[in-house]
Amino acid sequence: EVECDKVTWISADVHDDGPEYRDREFSHTKTMFERFHALFGLRKFRSNQQEAVDCAIERRYHVFVLMPTGGGKSLCYQLPAVLDDGITFVVSPLRSLILDQTQKLSSLGIPCASLTSDRTPAEVSAIYAQCYSSESELKLIYVTPEKIGQSDQLNKLFSHLYMKNRLARFVIDEAHCISDWGHDFRPDYVKIGTLRDRYPNVPFTLLTATATPRVQLDMLKQMKIERHLSKLFIQSFNRTNLVYKCFTKGKTDGALARTVQLCLSDQFVGMCGIVYCFSRMECERSAAYLSQSGVTARAYHAGLEDQDRADVQTQWANDDYQVICATIAFGMGIDKPNVRFVIHLSMPKSIEGYYQESGRAGRDGGLAHCYLFYSYQDLVKIKRLIMTEQSPNTTRDAQKVRLENLQRVYSYCLNNVDCRRTLLLEYFGEQFLSSQCKKITETRCDNCCNVAQTKLVDFKDLSKQILSLVDHLTRQLKTITLNQLIDILKGSKQKTIQNAGHDKLEQYNIAPDITKIDLERLLSKLILDDYLHQDISINDTYGTANAYIRLGKKTIYSEPILISVCTKKENPNVSSTVSNNSTRNRLVDSCLVRLKDELKLISAEHNIKYSTILSEN
Ligand code: ADP
Ligand code: MG
Ligand code: ZN
Repeated sequence: EVECDKVTWISADVHDDGPEYRDREFSHTKTMFERFHALFGLRKFRSNQQEAVDCAIERRYHVFVLMPTGGGKSLCYQLPAVLDDGITFVVSPLRSLILDQTQKLSSLGIPCASLTSDRTPAEVSAIYAQCYSSESELKLIYVTPEKIGQSDQLNKLFSHLYMKNRLARFVIDEAHCISDWGHDFRPDYVKIGTLRDRYPNVPFTLLTATATPRVQLDMLKQMKIERHLSKLFIQSFNRTNLVYKCFTKGKTDGALARTVQLCLSDQFVGMCGIVYCFSRMECERSAAYLSQSGVTARAYHAGLEDQDRADVQTQWANDDYQVICATIAFGMGIDKPNVRFVIHLSMPKSIEGYYQESGRAGRDGGLAHCYLFYSYQDLVKIKRLIMTEQSPNTTRDAQKVRLENLQRVYSYCLNNVDCRRTLLLEYFGEQFLSSQCKKITETRCDNCCNVAQTKLVDFKDLSKQILSLVDHLTRQLKTITLNQLIDILKGSKQKTIQNAGHDKLEQYNIAPDITKIDLERLLSKLILDDYLHQDISINDTYGTANAYIRLGKKTIYSEPILISVCTKKENPNVSSTVSNNSTRNRLVDSCLVRLKDELKLISAEHNIKYSTILSEN
């Protein structure tokens, strides 16, 4: 089960309205529970489900449901749909998701249909005929957003039902796709906003698993729904059963070798996982590497034929492969409960994306591991991709947001002090206390395992010096990369830097006391807050990318530049102690099993009851 914690929300506008609906009786309550048991065969609501269902049936507000993946969002509109008069239309982005839902509902005996592109003309006519009939029993119809933008027939049906008071509700699944602030913007979603103008009295239900307060407010804006006309049902996004860890890597191959080790070692042996890769090529290469090393693996990416992709999915669902090496094309709608690990061989593109991708681990509620390998080269590589990406839907603003998202992930990776949960959840507007992470030994994040005490240090003075150094160097019309800057700050006398023409660099040994990783974090913060700026330049001949540092838009006056650093390592081996212990326990267990098997054989041979042997020993 996806657990839920008590939460404080950072934004005042975006907060959980669930408590308003708790412990209340409605005229519909008795019928609602009857249908819940009889139709869905379930006994207990999960957190915020009943509240969202009540609010929907009440029909006074639009309903927003924000829950982690697997939290049970579908029920929040499916149960109201069977109780409402008329038809509920569900907009869902993928045919596979639609198929999954309609199959589930049909198996429960709930009348539903889908208008997707794979329907035959005869099937389509039959569905429309049913909808126009006033005796129709149809409760839910699933459509893709493209259909709403394109089909006159469908829009005529909406108007007809609206006039007859049989247009019960519009449901927008994966509603974050409407916001181009989010990580998964889909232009087809924008047209859904017009439904609000045309059918002002129809209540909407919006569902999503991923939304920052910024995306949440943008979703409301795009849907033209005022905050006071809506109720938000938001659950903590903390996944208590996941262990988050970050590792620096040299080359991708190092991360791959480590992945093989993990897959074959006691930790992950016989367990299935997803290995996310940067590109299609990296998927293929990684799958080949893993296979050669004795780990059953397959590649999955958008370049595969439809049939191949379907095959990989089914085979994986059947546990035919231990590992899927995938691009982020593999994800939405893949619902495998027993994924025990998700490994990123390269840095993800945003915190939101990372939360989603890593969140595919442990959907059954059991312990699962999320490992992220990163490098500065990853940052440059992805930055370059964003800069060169040309798509008609990419505005400069969107590009800026993407670069910011990327820089934030890099800061997350570099951060070797703060609780990973705090950092991840902060992004979703949730304030999470690291003490909650430290409480649970089994799923503590790497930083909570390693660090006894941290303190916030003001690096204002050092930062000012860094800025004036960068100013000085760039004024001399010389380019400087981040790594060179770090070397200079640490007083390196490396030939390459000297050769690059930076004179008398030893005098800038201004940061001898700060560790290299803290310095990197400080610089990353200065870039993120726009004190420094990173230019990506691409060498067309070689296709390589370089990132050069220059001054950003902001100047430091008196404001503090805070980063937390660790003051004392308590027991840097906590994490390995834990895994050693569990290794030992598992070894003992497997010895015991073997011993019992042998005893059974002996008892059979000598005709003694097995239980007698057990009790006598
Ligand atoms: P989401 O859309 O939030 O990712 P789903 O609606 O697909 O999640 O639900 C995930 C799973 O949880 C489904 O298998 C569903 O049947 C199950 N589920 C939902 N609500 C409950 C409940 N109250 N009790 C037990 N199982 C539930
Ligand atoms: Mg869903
Ligand atoms: Zn932690």
